Amino acid sequence: MAVLIDGKEVSRKVRNEVKDRALLLKRQRDIIPGLAVVLVGEDPASQIYVRGKKRACDEVGFLSREFLLPSATSEEDLLSLIKDLNEDRSIHGILVQLPLPEHLNGESILEAIDPRKDVDGFHPYNVGKLFSGTSYHRSCTPLGIIELLDRYRISIEGKEAVIVGRSNIVGKPLALMLLERHATVTICHTRTRNLAETTRRADILVAAAGRREMIRGDMIKEGAAVIDVGINRSETGKLFGDVLFTEAEPKASFITPVPGGVGPMTIAMLLFNTLNAASRSL
Ligand code: NAD
Repeated sequence: MAVLIDGKEVSRKVRNEVKDRALLLKRQRDIIPGLAVVLVGEDPASQIYVRGKKRACDEVGFLSREFLLPSATSEEDLLSLIKDLNEDRSIHGILVQLPLPEHLNGESILEAIDPRKDVDGFHPYNVGKLFSGTSYHRSCTPLGIIELLDRYRISIEGKEAVIVGRSNIVGKPLALMLLERHATVTICHTRTRNLAETTRRADILVAAAGRREMIRGDMIKEGAAVIDVGINRSETGKLFGDVLFTEAEPKASFITPVPGGVGPMTIAMLLFNTLNAASRSL
């Protein structure tokens, strides 16, 4: 029987710690951490995420400002808003909700954000800092995974870590974070041959492919820690992970459920990054 990793509980603890540190920052330096969230267009999932971020900010005593822009917003106008937010001393974190409408160049917009305020950790500066082992803001979902491993005292050093998925927001940054913590890291993707052979080597197996229940029991080594990042919604709206839980759970030593595993950690780490940005501000 695996230990169930309770992401909701860990997320609550992280958010409480952030709240305490924010109170201290206010008391000692009169700084209230401020997060600006920019949403372009009416994507319903993005609207839910943005509302969730605002609520999370309110709960920990941050200032939060939402910018809900019409989908026809020009690149020039968006860049001008980012410039204003870069200069706004009450704002310490800027988050542009992805995906952006197609007519906007996501890369140049992310690059316009002051890296010190890039609390999503997607700016090339922050990606480069992570790459060189001197990280500044680290992207929230992989950072949340490291936090879960640490809070459950799952040691990383010297372990075989296998990640299924090589996206810029999960797989690649997580690989660097695990490497930083001295794991031996393998990244798998759609062209990996003998996927099961590779995943069976893993002491720490992270599934981040976005393919419902593709990780079956026979792909898991006895005693592995299994982290499921996948969020796959069925036609009825039910959520499924990338791991077939019923087969994986008897083999794993630790396992994250979906929902309630990695998911709740992302917002907690966003608050953590925003607090750090505010603490570093002059
Ligand atoms: P993505 O589509 O950008 O990347 C998926 C990766 O998985 C690709 O690198 C691809 O090569 C690999 N892949 C796909 N099918 C595969 C297969 N059959 N075998 C091996 N590799 C395969 O996805 P993403 O943005 O990284 O997200 C991955 C999953 O994690 C999604 O379900 C997403 O919803 C979820 N996610 C959750 C959170 C969260 O919990 N907060 C955050 C980000 C993403």
